[in-house]
Amino acid sequence: MERVLMLGTGCGKAIELYNTCFVLQNEMGDFLVDAGGSIEIEKRLKILNVDIGKLSHIFISHAHTDHIFGLIWLYRKISGMVITGRYKEKVSIYCSEYVYKAIIGISKLVLPIELLDALDKVIEYVVLKDGDIHNINGLDYTFFDTHAKGEELYGFETILSSGKRLVFLGDEICDESQYKRIENADYVMHEAFCLDSEEGIPRIVKEHHSTVKSVCEKMEPLNIKNLILYHTEESHKDRKELYTKEAKDYFSNNVIVPDDLEIIEIK
Ligand SMILES: [Zn+2]
Repeated sequence: MERVLMLGTGCGKAIELYNTCFVLQNEMGDFLVDAGGSIEIEKRLKILNVDIGKLSHIFISHAHTDHIFGLIWLYRKISGMVITGRYKEKVSIYCSEYVYKAIIGISKLVLPIELLDALDKVIEYVVLKDGDIHNINGLDYTFFDTHAKGEELYGFETILSSGKRLVFLGDEICDESQYKRIENADYVMHEAFCLDSEEGIPRIVKEHHSTVKSVCEKMEPLNIKNLILYHTEESHKDRKELYTKEAKDYFSNNVIVPDDLEIIEIK
């Protein structure tokens, strides 16, 4: 059985919430999906008992600051552990060619040479092309270009040990070209920046992000069983209740609005 450990659920500019990233966990290991934007990633992994020393699969969906910079902090940690002999694993980093270039470029500019040398001993890059399949902790993941309007953004789909299908769509509005893929899925992970019912919806929502209502209206005809919403603004203390309430008006199946550090049991 798998669990989704939500390390963060906030949007790129969030400061109270951590940026959206999570661990897909099963009995074979942990798979980190995105890394957020800061050293906070280390604290979040520690709180949820995810051992960085055993983290051997990491996927970075795109090259934005709120997904990639946390990886640089993990690199600091991992390389330090390699140097002191406390790190024996190999780490596979799954990402597109563009993200690969960004990670290499940033790392070379900001990490000392001895840390880079240590990383070379344990990091293996798996540069993704649209449709590539990789087995991670016993599950086959199909990685795909989401055809997002903004920067190149990869998502994935996988069949869980229960036989159920989970699709992760990153942090942009799901492009219509992906509707066939997500139709009838058991779990769809999709961004929702804010409520539709509140005033002053930022311009970026219209171009790249969704409101709870807009994503629910799009997902409703696709017969998705469980819709997980994340990558939100952070102005509401009772976000879970407010977002769930709006979602229920437009989406008839189950909606999950996780809090930071919430663990979602995928049954
Ligand atoms: Zn983001």
